[in-house]
Amino acid sequence: MLNIENLRAEVEGKEILKGLSLQVNAGEIHAIMGPNGAGKSTLGYVLGGRGNYTPTGGTVTLNGEDLLEMEPDQRAAAGLFLGFQYPVEIPGISNVQFLREALNSQRRVRGEGPLSGAEFLKLARAQADLLGMHHDMLKRPVNVGFSGGEKKRNEMVQMGILGPKLAILDETDSGLDIDALKAVGDGINRIMRAPDKAVILITHYQRLLDYVKPDFVHVLADGRIVRSGGAELAHELEREGYGAIAA
Ligand code: ADP
Ligand code: MG
Ligand code: MG
Repeated sequence: MLNIENLRAEVEGKEILKGLSLQVNAGEIHAIMGPNGAGKSTLGYVLGGRGNYTPTGGTVTLNGEDLLEMEPDQRAAAGLFLGFQYPVEIPGISNVQFLREALNSQRRVRGEGPLSGAEFLKLARAQADLLGMHHDMLKRPVNVGFSGGEKKRNEMVQMGILGPKLAILDETDSGLDIDALKAVGDGINRIMRAPDKAVILITHYQRLLDYVKPDFVHVLADGRIVRSGGAELAHELEREGYGAIAA
């Protein structure tokens, strides 16, 4: 599904990704762990096509297509979803307006017709119910005044509505209490555990991985994947820290 080969990228003229390679097949969940400043979020931004995060070498294909050549909206329409460490707040735009526009713009790029307000509301409410999110939250401005846990649940509702093929979730577990962590973990499993879908889970801690069992764990240090293993590698990292492995 996703094939990253020898990817190099810079931010503000500084090289951050220094020859990163990673293959993700349909049906797989990959965890990426690593020390602060290693380039984990940068990887997510480069794959999402955010400005300022400039690829300078290597290749990335999504289902055989050159991802780096695609505009961000084309990437989303091709099934890529990015969940960020710090979800943006958008005062003045309600959650439903925002989500409906996001879904309809993807449908437009794919040549599908838009969902009506009523059709969309039904879908949004069903997803909110699955995440245990109150329907009132759908009417509120996007993420404004949401707690950390509410923002992350909201992100899962968004993911459920958009139905991506590949989700890249950056520190989705940061700042969550146990109940929210479990809700988010259940959401990832329910929405993304499927033979035709895949997840890259960027996380500092083992605890989310207790809910979402990764098939592979990678250590990203200084802009490269320096070690890969199975779920047991996360436990080893938790015990021994990154120092021994990333040195
Ligand atoms: P991680 O997510 O692994 O903690 P990041 O990808 O956020 O690491 O950051 C990797 C490096 O890139 C850090 O040294 C960080 O300071 C730098 N960096 C990231 N974004 C920017 C930016 N917008 N401007 C300048 N430097 C940046
Ligand atoms: Mg960080
Ligand atoms: Mg980060």
